[in-house]
Formats: sequence, C-alpha cells, structure tokens
Amino acid sequence: LAERLQNTMKKITGKGKVSEQDVKEMTREVRLALLEADVNFKVVKDLIKRIKERAIGQEVMESLTPGQQVIKVVKDELTELMGGEQSRIAVSDRPPTVIMMVGLQGAGKTTTTGKLANHLRKNHNRSPLLVACDVYRPAAIKQLETLGTQLNMPVFSMGTEANPVDIAKQAIEKAKEEHHDYVIIDTAGRLHVDTDLMDELEQIKTTVKPDEIFLVVDAMTGQDAVNVAESFNEQLDLSGVVLTKLDGDTRGGAALSIKAVTNKPIKFAGMGEKLDQLEAFHPERMASRILGMGDVLTLIEKAQTNVNEKQAKELEEKMRTASFTFDDFLEQMGQVKNMGPLDDLLAMIPGANKMKGLKNAQIDEKQLVHVEAIIKSMTKKERQDPSVMNASRKKRIAKGSGTTVSQVNRLLKQFDEMKKMMKQMTNMQKGKKGKGMKF
Ligand code: GDP
Ligand code: MG
Repeated sequence: LAERLQNTMKKITGKGKVSEQDVKEMTREVRLALLEADVNFKVVKDLIKRIKERAIGQEVMESLTPGQQVIKVVKDELTELMGGEQSRIAVSDRPPTVIMMVGLQGAGKTTTTGKLANHLRKNHNRSPLLVACDVYRPAAIKQLETLGTQLNMPVFSMGTEANPVDIAKQAIEKAKEEHHDYVIIDTAGRLHVDTDLMDELEQIKTTVKPDEIFLVVDAMTGQDAVNVAESFNEQLDLSGVVLTKLDGDTRGGAALSIKAVTNKPIKFAGMGEKLDQLEAFHPERMASRILGMGDVLTLIEKAQTNVNEKQAKELEEKMRTASFTFDDFLEQMGQVKNMGPLDDLLAMIPGANKMKGLKNAQIDEKQLVHVEAIIKSMTKKERQDPSVMNASRKKRIAKGSGTTVSQVNRLLKQFDEMKKMMKQMTNMQKGKKGKGMKF
C-alpha cells in the first residue's frame, strides 16, 4: 500500500523525539492508507482518534524510543480492532457438533467446508460428515463430492430435488448413526443478499440449531464484504467469519471493518485453493499487512523486550563518560544475540534481502563467536582496562580463545576506535539517545 505510509513509518521509527506535528503527519498517512485499504470510514475515524490520544500521551513521549512507540501504538490499535486470535471451534455436549457455512456465491463456502473438515480431522482428530445443501446447481453437489473423495471423507447428499432443510435434518440423523462427531453443512449462495436465500438459511438454522454459523467472505470484495457481513449477521446471528482469498494481493482492510461492524470474530483465513490452505486468523499479522510493513513491527518488539531500557540508559551514561569496558561490550553482544540469529533479524526487515551487504552480515555472525571467546579469555583487569595489554597477555588470550594474536590485536584496535567514536558521537550530539552499537 501507500509507499508514503511506509516512508512516514520509516522516518518516524528512528526518531529520538516525536513532535505533535510528526504524529499529525503520521496519522494523516495512516488514515489515507486505511481508507485506501477499504476500511470503513467510521472505523477509521474512531481509530485515528485513539491513536492520536495515545501517541501524544506520556507512554510515547517519555519512552526511550518514541518513534518506535508511535508505530507500536498504531499496530496495537489495529490488532485490538480485529480482536484476539480466535480459531477455536465449538464442541457440542451432544454430538454431532453442527457447523453451518453461509455466504454469497463464489465466496469459498464449498472449498472452506472441505478445508475445515480437513482441519478438524488433522488437528483435532475428528470425523466430520459433509452435507451438500446447495441444491440449485448440480455442479455444487459434485464439487463437494469431489472434495470428499480427495479427503476420503463421506459426503451426504440427496440430489437436487430435495429440500435443503430436509437434507440437513436427515444428515444429522445419519451422522448420529454413523458416529460422526461433526457435521458441516455447505449451503447455497446467491450473487447478492436476497430474502429468498435468507429465508432458506433461517429455516435450516431453526431446524438443525447449529453450534456454529460461519460466514465465508471473499477478502477481495473489500468494502462489499463488510456490507455482506452486516446483513448476514443481522439475519442469522453469526458465530464467526472466515475470510478467504487472502493469498491474493488484497490488503485485507475488510478484515478490520468486519470485526468492528459485526463484532463477530474472524476465525480463519483462506490462503489458497488447496485443502490445507486454511490458517487461524492472526490479527497481528493482518495489522502489519495492512500497514504494509512486513514484519518490521515484530522486529521492533523483539528489540524492545531484549534491550531493557534501564540497561540502555546506563550504557548511554558509560558512553558519555567513555568508561565503556569489554564487559559492557560482552553484555551488548549478548543482547544482540538474544534477538536471534542476525540472518533472521535481517529477513524481517522489508527490502533487506535486496541489500548488498547481507552476505557480510553472515560473516559477521561467525566473527561474533570469536570476539566473544577473546573477551572471555581476558582477565577482569584486562576487560576493565585494556591498556595493560602486552605481548605475553595477548598470546595467552589468543591461546585461551582458540584465536590468533593478530585477531586479538584487531579486536583491541576496533574496541579502541569504537570508544573514540562513541566519545565523538556523544560530544557532538548531546542529548540524543544512545542507539546501541553496530558490529
Ligand atoms: P462457494 O460458491 O461459496 O461455494 O465458493 P467455492 O468454494 O466454490 O469457491 C469459489 C472459488 O474460489 C473456487 O475457484 C475456489 O477454488 C476459490 N477459493 C476459495 N477459497 C480460496 C482461497 O482462500 N484462496 C484462493 N486463491 N481461492 C479460493
Ligand atoms: Mg459452493
């Protein structure tokens, strides 16, 4: 989405201070991006109001990394809007548990019926019976039967002449006889919401009293999906939503509005035509996707949890007074390592895989191991005050760490340069926050 939003986000990420003007600029971009991503207007308005309040509040302004905090606020609010992860499916006290699939034609009901059945068997060890209640198109029954064959699961159908309500009723009787613990009813759809369809679905609902009614909506239909969800929910009181075709390049802004408008959770996401391409819906990932930022937010969070703010402040103090020692160096390295392999971290940064320097990063990681070994072979005194270093000490350290004297020398030189640089930096940019080191 909006490259502009990404640029704004990037600009704000590294900021040591965020002004009200920055926040205004950023929320304007967020607002445009959300509208562009098909998020409902009213939803956007409420959301922006909350983001502004929080972003200009203490939580952000007094934090060590306000730029990152602002972005986190945006993401938090988006995630919140979509609710927590809710991929649970009801289990009836008196089996079979009945799931009814509803939605417009082409939304993906039949496919999702197969996917859910597969999910229930694979992940919950259940034995579902699939039921063909779309009697208006012979091809629809055939389609479900084909899925049944692929899955090696039974499909209950009574042809195109029978009444969908009767089919559903008899299917449940059959499921009881044959000890199926789940019944998934695939119903008919129309191109648009109409009263005939709704009446039929309501009759099925009253007759079989399903434990779950899942609305299947096509994420690619954008704002329309929201209207559809609203109508179906009014008529049938849904229990959840399955958002399909998220494997396309749709931004999925509809996801945000659906939850906000119906207050029903999005439980699953369809990620392709294949029967195993159904996933639990992750509000957090969706928020990142809507913001178009890859997993950059996860990266920020990782950094935040691992670099404890108090430690960072102490470090800054040490940098300012140039009393930074090898022990501090070791600790910093530990923090970087806690964040996971450098390669993984880089992979989370959008565009990083296109960067030329990535190959070097892999080499660096090996060097880190050596660096750590060298420092660990130093005595306490040597770590605190490298000026005591002489030829015999260096030899001992090289031996102890399985490296060479020239590697030890190189590290000592780098450390010395780093200290000088820190001093310059802190003198030059008084008041600017320390940002950790690069290796
Ligand atoms: P129904 O009319 O609601 O039963 O919809 P179908 O299950 O027949 O699906 C309509 C079309 O959408 C089919 O071609 C499916 O293969 C396709 N489809 C369903 N779910 C997904 C999905 O998550 N991703 C993609 N790419 N295609 C899907
Ligand atoms: Mg169908």
